[in-house]
Amino acid sequence: MKTKKLVVLGGGESGVGAAILAKDKGMEVFLSDMGKLAPKYADMLNQEGIEWEEGQHTEEKILDADEVVKSPGIPPTTPLMLKIASKNIPVISEIELAGRYTDAKMVCITGSNGKTTTTMLTYHILKNAGVNVGLAGNVGKSLALQVAREHHDVYVVELSSFQLENMYDFKAHIAVMMNITPDHLDRYDYEMQNYVNAKFRILQNLTSQDAFIFWQDDPIIEAQLRQVETQARLYPFAETIEENTQAYIDAENNMIINTPSTSLNMPRADLALSGLHNLYNSMAAGLSACLLDLKKEDIRRALSNFEGVEHRLEYVDTINGVRYINDSKATNVNSCWYALESVPKNTILILGGKDKGNDYTEILPLVKEKVKAIVCMGKDNAKLLDFFDGVVTLSDTHSIEDAVKECARLAQEGDTVLLSPCCASFDLFKSYEDRGHQFKAIVKSMNR
Ligand code: ADP
Repeated sequence: MKTKKLVVLGGGESGVGAAILAKDKGMEVFLSDMGKLAPKYADMLNQEGIEWEEGQHTEEKILDADEVVKSPGIPPTTPLMLKIASKNIPVISEIELAGRYTDAKMVCITGSNGKTTTTMLTYHILKNAGVNVGLAGNVGKSLALQVAREHHDVYVVELSSFQLENMYDFKAHIAVMMNITPDHLDRYDYEMQNYVNAKFRILQNLTSQDAFIFWQDDPIIEAQLRQVETQARLYPFAETIEENTQAYIDAENNMIINTPSTSLNMPRADLALSGLHNLYNSMAAGLSACLLDLKKEDIRRALSNFEGVEHRLEYVDTINGVRYINDSKATNVNSCWYALESVPKNTILILGGKDKGNDYTEILPLVKEKVKAIVCMGKDNAKLLDFFDGVVTLSDTHSIEDAVKECARLAQEGDTVLLSPCCASFDLFKSYEDRGHQFKAIVKSMNR
């Protein structure tokens, strides 16, 4: 039989994992990255004897592929991707490739906001209950590498819409949809429906043995569920009980979770994560854990001792009586809405960065209610300055140092400073992690 030629585009965590798995499975593998590979990944490829290039795409080699694994970061509209499409070469994601070589149970989590928190929390519950579980997708090691080199019975996989775009036969056993709000519209021709369709690919291939967990009050999910057909059993969660709600808060302020085999109940006050959004995240993780038939006491314990995830409403320090909170991961308007929902009045909000077609109307009422000043922090703050003109005090800064300095100047004892920028970080920072780390370092330095 002819050896299959697999080309991997993108040499990050997922690409390198896919290359190693494909090589293990006897394919002829070539990895190509327009940018520069991190030394760690270059070493891994060299160790495995996998051919690769960086800083260029050698087209004749790439267009000779039988199949292409594309990194989720590469839009389908680049000239190279269009050429690949015109030659009808199938393009898949790393998760699709990995799914072909494992029978493990897949708990797959998507949504516009709350994916990482819910993924980490679900993983925490499973791990602490003694399940042989792997963490994959946008967090942890690539699924492909784990399938190649480790053996897990269950994987908790965070899936972005970009990953879902190139998934076809992959099948989740438990699919979780946290919510759908506008995000990444620049990648979807500014058409919300395209983004919704990508997210809903998580439902494809689900059978009547599988489960779909989703936020019941999300109007976009509700509308889409009326359009698509699914065999999966439905597990909607909501703050208060409605028709068919399987997780909710009862009149005594207990979180109730019902699945065919379990009925779990715990005081809301015992949940480790606070805020309404985190209640949803806890419900989604709790539903998955109940569906996997874990012991109730293990689920309760893990839901109450989870330590949270960095850059998500992370408390940094209190300086001169002012609380500083790092929510650098809030890269869209809806996540900032939840951050504002959870902070007290007299908050100074740092907003700005690379705008992805944002509409700030959604946060306007909460800004009016809780925000005493907005400190804009971006290369170009014109849109923010224009939108919030006359609403609250505005400051125009172009670096994190100046932004924090300005917040410290404006804040009085008892106030909160919240970095929850609504925007991507790439205008001034390498990543949202870089933005969060710099913010924390500067805040901490004020305490010395
Ligand atoms: P994602 O991985 O989907 O980006 P994260 O768990 O990293 O989500 O959280 C990103 C931000 O979104 C957090 O900083 C928080 O403010 C907000 N957030 C978290 N969970 C939810 C939720 N269930 N609904 C809405 N916003 C949320």
